[in-house]
Amino acid sequence: MGPRRSGLNRRALLAGGAAAPFAIAGRPAAAADVDAVVIGAGAAGIAAAHALRAAGRRAIVLEARGRVGGRAFTDTSLGPAFDAGASFIHWAERNPWVAIAREVGIATTAESRGGGFQLFADGRPMAEPDRRRRRDAFRRIERRLEAADLDARDLSIAELIGDLGPELAPVAASGLLLSIGEEAGRISARDYRRLWSGDDLVVPSGYGDLVARSAAGLDIRLAEPVEAIRWDGPGVAVTTPSGTLRAGACIVTVPVGVLKAGTIRFVPELPAATRDALSGLHMGALTKIALKLEGDRFGIAPGTSLLEAAAPERLLNLLMFPGGKDLVIGFCGGDYARGLCEAGAAEARAHLVDLLASMVGSEIRKAVKQVSFPAWWTDPHARGAYSVCDPGHETARDALARPIGGRLFIAGEATAGGGAMTVGGATLAGRAAAAALLARKA
Ligand SMILES: Cc1cc2nc3c(=O)[nH]c(=O)nc-3n(C[C@H](O)[C@H](O)[C@H](O)COP(=O)(O)OP(=O)(O)OC[C@H]3O[C@@H](n4cnc5c(N)ncnc54)[C@H](O)[C@@H]3O)c2cc1C
Repeated sequence: MGPRRSGLNRRALLAGGAAAPFAIAGRPAAAADVDAVVIGAGAAGIAAAHALRAAGRRAIVLEARGRVGGRAFTDTSLGPAFDAGASFIHWAERNPWVAIAREVGIATTAESRGGGFQLFADGRPMAEPDRRRRRDAFRRIERRLEAADLDARDLSIAELIGDLGPELAPVAASGLLLSIGEEAGRISARDYRRLWSGDDLVVPSGYGDLVARSAAGLDIRLAEPVEAIRWDGPGVAVTTPSGTLRAGACIVTVPVGVLKAGTIRFVPELPAATRDALSGLHMGALTKIALKLEGDRFGIAPGTSLLEAAAPERLLNLLMFPGGKDLVIGFCGGDYARGLCEAGAAEARAHLVDLLASMVGSEIRKAVKQVSFPAWWTDPHARGAYSVCDPGHETARDALARPIGGRLFIAGEATAGGGAMTVGGATLAGRAAAAALLARKA
């Protein structure tokens, strides 16, 4: 985030908002400035604002960062672009982003499997019996998840697979670190089973870039971190360092981690049902670490995944030269990712380079030129990768989505039901919140 500027200068408008007739700062107490305020310009906020605009309502989006897109972000800081957050259009059969990409004129394509997987244990090729054990563990967790009887009560995934034994259970659970970004003991099996599946597509020019482009035409104020929302009057009053904006209603799309951290003060506080819902959700910690490499490619085909899997709790996938780019993208999740985020970019880089050197040879050290570390877990505007439902709290997503006092609407990937944890889900949740706002009695 850049340095603070004065109220009017802070108004970084995207196309369409340039003629906005009022300043946020210094506005005297008055009737609503605008029909609705949308907080957060990620996929959910963008979708909500488009839906309100299409219905003829005036909405302003307040975004804390100096850019739009939130956890969908195409990073170009290393030269070649890579998606630091979301990269797959999941369950493409029903994902709204397939149509949005078409409308914006951006190509989507099936994921190229590239050079396949190579498994390592402590930097050395994994022995065949261990590879077999892994395959077997994954088959068994899939079967267990499909067959488990969750009618009586919810279980954690760890409980569900506990009887695979102390050797196989951690291996079976480790795959979830790279999909859910969380340890199996902290994932609700009922919620997990509810998640939609389907085909994946990718956006070669960047999913984050596509999400950012889709915001064209909206009135978005960047670098406007919301600090407080008053909702005890007939409408809402939303305060940023620039001042206070009054509106008939507010759609809040900040991540669950941000809501739980108390970054935004609600006056009065959120109702008990909403606070209960929040207490049943937390943020997982999938993380990517990107290295820029120059020169030799060490005979590795573009798109090859080198998977370090000696210790299941420290599973790390290194995607080599994706799309032929001079990049290596490391992925990891759970407490391991949290530790790396807290350690910072220099340590994360050193860790990855050591691992690569043991896998490929120490020559690779010289090829590594730069790091970019989108450390979502320690990012104050994300506080994690995406929402995870605690065991026994599988109703939390729906409860969080319930309108509050007819003027506060919480939306985002966390409220997306089976679409949770995804960009497509966030978009559907943003549209649903706008529809609820439009349907309310004035
Ligand atoms: C590493 C990683 C990989 C992922 N991979 C995929 C994938 O392949 N496919 C997929 O579909 N999804 C993936 N996701 C998840 C996906 O990115 C999110 O589910 C989705 O982008 C969430 O959108 P949202 O609008 O709910 O939230 P966000 O995108 O987080 O938007 C919320 C916005 O609120 C802003 N904000 C926060 N605090 C304030 C404040 N106080 N005032 C104003 N604004 C504020 C934030 O800056 C942000 O822009 C991934 C996420 C990560 C981190």
